[in-house]
Amino acid sequence: MSVSSLARFRAGGSDRPDDSGLYQLKGLLVCDGCDLHLTPLDLVDGGRGYRSACGCRLWPVDAAVVEALARNAVERRDRRQVADVPVNGLRPVFKRLLCQVRVSALEQELTFVWRT
Ligand SMILES: [Zn+2]
Repeated sequence: MSVSSLARFRAGGSDRPDDSGLYQLKGLLVCDGCDLHLTPLDLVDGGRGYRSACGCRLWPVDAAVVEALARNAVERRDRRQVADVPVNGLRPVFKRLLCQVRVSALEQELTFVWRT
């Protein structure tokens, strides 16, 4: 994604934050405590997060952290799947390979549910 399109996305407000494709794990993240889906959230500091409506965690999950962990997991499983894929182009790869990414109370603890 170019800098200009990123700026346009930010300027466009946060009513539809999931339209840009920036949220690579949209629709895949599930709270491990209660099975609620996590949804994209624009953070006030300009960062990206995911949150769920449940009370299982105090803060939004850092999107960059969980997306990087998911990419690493795919890479460990099959390096070719993410070779030459840009960071903002991972969503189709994740959707193809994963059923769910379950998030524990700690965002670093992810459980990957692979498609078979
Ligand atoms: Zn929960």
